[in-house]
Formats: sequence, C-alpha cells, structure tokens
Amino acid sequence: MKNDKKDIRALTKQQLQEFFVAQGDKSFRGSQVYEWLWNKGAHSFEDMTNVSKETRKMLQDNFVINHIRVDLMQRSSDGTIKNAVKLHDNLTVESVLIPTPKRTTACVSSQVGCSLDCKFCATATLKRMRNLNPDEIYDQVVAIDNESRLYFDKPLSNIVFMGMGEPLMNYNNVMKAVEKITSKDGLGMSPKRITISTSGVPKMIKKLADDEAKIKLAVSLHSAIDEIRTQIMPFNATFPLQDLKEALEYWYAKTKSRITYEYIVWEGINDQPKDAEALVRFCKYVPCKVNLIEYNPIDDGQFQQASSQATHMYEKMLEQNGITVTVRRSRGKDIDAACGQLANKSS
Ligand code: SF4
Repeated sequence: MKNDKKDIRALTKQQLQEFFVAQGDKSFRGSQVYEWLWNKGAHSFEDMTNVSKETRKMLQDNFVINHIRVDLMQRSSDGTIKNAVKLHDNLTVESVLIPTPKRTTACVSSQVGCSLDCKFCATATLKRMRNLNPDEIYDQVVAIDNESRLYFDKPLSNIVFMGMGEPLMNYNNVMKAVEKITSKDGLGMSPKRITISTSGVPKMIKKLADDEAKIKLAVSLHSAIDEIRTQIMPFNATFPLQDLKEALEYWYAKTKSRITYEYIVWEGINDQPKDAEALVRFCKYVPCKVNLIEYNPIDDGQFQQASSQATHMYEKMLEQNGITVTVRRSRGKDIDAACGQLANKSS
C-alpha cells in the first residue's frame, strides 16, 4: 500500500511551528517536536514522552519518521568501517568511516546510484535511482559519528561528500543537510570540516560560490586534457575543461578558498609526461593542491593503477612547480570501501 504521509523531518522548525499553530496549538509545541526529531534522534512519535498522547496520535495520523537503518556494518583490517544503509523505500546506499591517528572522516553518499557515468567508478554501473533527502544524508553522518565515538573514542572530525552520487546534482538537499550538520540543532560542526567533492559541474560550482557556502571544494579531475577526460568521464563533452576552469576561477574569486584536485593515474591512460604537464598548467589557474589517489580496480578490470614511477613523475613535476601534492594510499580495500568501489555489493 502506498504511504502518502509526509516525512515530518522534511519540515523546517518554522514549518513545524506553523503546522501546530494551524492545528490550534502553540508554536512552542513545534519546537518541542523538532527537538525530539533532531537533538534526541527520536525514531517514533511514541518516544516523545513530554508530548500529550492526543498530539502524538495526531502526528502519527499526519506524518511518518523515515529513519535510515544501518543494515550491515563491515570493518576493514585497517580500521575503516563501511555501512550499508537501508532507506525507507528499501533502496541501499553506502557510507564509510575512515580513521587516521589525527581524525575520523565520514565519506557519505548523496544519491542512490549516480547521474554520471565515470568509466572507472563502480557506482556508475548502478545508474541514478533517486536523490537522497536531507535527513537521509544527515542520518548517515549521525550513524558514523556514533561509530566514531564507540570505536575510536572521539567524535567525527571531517565529512567528505565522496560516496555514491554527484553531490552537486542533488544541490538543494545536500545544502540542507550541510545546514543541519553545521547548526546548533544538529551536530554543530564547522563547515570548514566539510568537503564537497564534485566531478565538476560548472554552473553548480558557481552557485555554490554565490550561496557563500563556507565548505571546502574538491574536484575529481583525473585528466587536464579534454580528449582523455571525455573518454573516462563522458560528461566532460558537455562541460569541458574551459568551462570548469572559469567556474573554479569564479569560486576562488568569491571564496578565496583553495581547491583540491583528486587525481588518479592509470596505466596507458594518463601516465605520460604530457599528462602531468597538462595538470601543472591547469593547477596554475587557481590556488590548489593535488591529491594523487591510489586506484582500486573494480571488477571489469579496464583500468589499472599506473606504475609507481608514473606517480612519482607527477609528484616531482608538481613539486617542481610549487604545487602542494599528497599521495593518498587507499583505505578499506578489503571491504570494497575505497574510493570508486561503492556499489552496494554488500546488499
Ligand atoms: S565518480 Fe562520482 S560522479 Fe563519477 S560516476 Fe562515480 S559517483 Fe558518480
């Protein structure tokens, strides 16, 4: 049977207050229920013990609380945790907790499947089924924050939108989730600890700058040569590097926030000096740093990690040009939790 009741957590505090006023109650009741939903994480109206029985019944008749459920939690030998998260409509997304001595980072999903079709990415095989709601994104973060406290004795310190989906293709919901994560009603985290990682949607990067989002921006670049980038990230044919460059210049002019380029070097694809030279040229447009990421092969085996000499050649060339570069070892490979491996194999 189709459930037509609205998810109560889709309402803002003000909308909830207005709902109660429209019911002839006090707006204060809205604040009380809001606190149950967000500060106390109530999963049922029955949990709201300081709200009268009649009010709980009225809420039950009008709304549902669509909480996510961690269906399966896997732990990697390196400490990484992957959650398979069941949504209210039985779809599944994945999120990952990456612990290091200094920080614990949540890598969260923004869509079920993905709108884009990067050839090296396991999520791309799923196609986009739907966008996640703000509360579904927020709940992933809360679940990981709880795991961070339980297993590593510290709260979550950072969040990256680098799980399943292209976050800028679900802009409004991602930004609402960020608002909740950073607000006092939510987790109260600094936006500076949140990174949105995009494959590079120029129009939305500009919007992010216009909206004065205080978050950090990362771009999955992988090639600074249009022909090659289009081969591995076909949407580059619609949004070529020139458009991306302009959007990033716009972002930097407005935010003064340095950009991170995520970059994987693959054998026979982008492992030649001309590829590294093109990256160096691209890096000169706006202040940036480069993360060279180790690749995790997905099953079809078309893409292979380049030799360590090729990675070293990139590192050397970037450093010689004064560009900060970090080589990132992959985490959670044994549980398919590494970058580009999220594809619901655990479900
Ligand atoms: S790399 Fe990111 S944007 Fe590209 S298909 Fe995978 S999830 Fe989507």
